[in-house]
Amino acid sequence: MYLKSYFSHFWLLSLPLASTLIVPQTPLAEDTLSELTPIDNVEFNTTDYTSLDEWTPTKWDYDVVIVGGGPAGLAASMSLARVARTSLLYDTQEYRNEQTRYMHDVLGQDGQVPLKFRTAVRHQIDELYPDYSFWATRKTKVTGIIPLEKGFRVYDDKGGKVTAKRVILATGIKDILPNKPGFAEAFGRGVFWCPWCDGHDYKNRKMVVYGNLASAIGSALNIRKLTEDITIVTGGPLTKEDKEAAEARWPGWETVLKNVYKIPIRENDITRVERTTTQTEPKDDEYRVHLNGGNPLITNGMLISVPTAQTASLHKQLRLEMDGKSVKVKPNMESSVGGVYVVGDANNDGSTNAYHAMWSAKRAVVNAHVSMSKQEYLDVVPTAMVAAAGGDEGMYRLQIEHLESQIGDDVEQMYKALGG
Ligand SMILES: Cc1cc2nc3c(=O)[nH]c(=O)nc-3n(C[C@H](O)[C@H](O)[C@H](O)COP(=O)(O)OP(=O)(O)OC[C@H]3O[C@@H](n4cnc5c(N)ncnc54)[C@H](O)[C@@H]3O)c2cc1C
Repeated sequence: MYLKSYFSHFWLLSLPLASTLIVPQTPLAEDTLSELTPIDNVEFNTTDYTSLDEWTPTKWDYDVVIVGGGPAGLAASMSLARVARTSLLYDTQEYRNEQTRYMHDVLGQDGQVPLKFRTAVRHQIDELYPDYSFWATRKTKVTGIIPLEKGFRVYDDKGGKVTAKRVILATGIKDILPNKPGFAEAFGRGVFWCPWCDGHDYKNRKMVVYGNLASAIGSALNIRKLTEDITIVTGGPLTKEDKEAAEARWPGWETVLKNVYKIPIRENDITRVERTTTQTEPKDDEYRVHLNGGNPLITNGMLISVPTAQTASLHKQLRLEMDGKSVKVKPNMESSVGGVYVVGDANNDGSTNAYHAMWSAKRAVVNAHVSMSKQEYLDVVPTAMVAAAGGDEGMYRLQIEHLESQIGDDVEQMYKALGG
């Protein structure tokens, strides 16, 4: 499909604007550029795209720009280097698990400090692939990404700009915590959302589950194998609707919680979370949970369920199609804009953990590499054809048509063959 459009464009004019993969098809008009002005008040030079050379660069600074240095971005960097693809990685050092003390449930890394994990990976990449993997200065933020005819120009908050054939967004999400004293400090240090990540630290210890009744019952069931000492805090008095919603999901919930599981329900909201120990290891965690009525609760850990938001706003600037708060991707991790891949927590794969971050990056890299290889091939076809035709235009035309009918395979087939 791409081949066809490539050749028909080529036939008509042989202009460098003949497009294969990346949208949009024509240079951006001045008014479109102002709409695409990067957010965060960073100056953007709209005169950059007044010349055709700027729009269709013939040389690229990097094969891929990676935005994000968490597990997803790092995995992309290594995987690209393995097939001799250059990449530049930007990292503002705002990691979702920044506050957590240890990462878990990752083979060979269970109990690892996240900072040590990231540092070890970067050292390994530096040591093994110095010719391919490059890092932007630490804490450099990508502020704008503009699609070109066959790639992208990427702007940062230190005034830098580079070009790349593909972009991988590994920008992550952030958890929106209750705006109440103590929550921000306690997050990842006893207050958490993921049973697999932190739950085991509270085996046979006191746990509070905080949230609306129906979802809190589900969360309580998810940690009941770890501990039976659970109290649900509902955030306020239960309404008829709360109880009906719980009954619809958990028939007989009141009886089962009270008589079988012995999980008390406190119909209060939390006003403050107070750490009662100066010790810092998970085994020592203890909190006093202040309620807006009644005595405070003492607990070792608290499971919460909170909304999330994209860490970066590049998806807005690129107008990527969304699925709720997540960026919509195809199975190959490509977003609604061709050549822009979104990996890790930021996408709508429905999974947010270190494994998914690394796996989704791998998928994106396989597809990006295969599609770049194909585009590079197409780019040399005209020169090869002209040379082979010895300047005979009729012969040249025939050769192009012959080639067009011969080459039927498309990027997706090659990608599948590579196990992407
Ligand atoms: C408290 C807590 C504990 C967790 N524990 C575990 C665990 O034990 N095991 C597990 O598997 N998972 C765990 N997780 C989940 C895990 O942290 C995430 O799934 C994982 O970090 C996602 O990786 P990512 O690379 O997609 O995003 P992140 O790790 O969040 O990285 C995002 C990156 O993008 C960068 N960035 C964003 N915007 C820009 C920009 N404009 N320019 C440049 N850089 C930018 C950030 O600086 C950062 O480098 C935990 C999460 C939390 C909150």
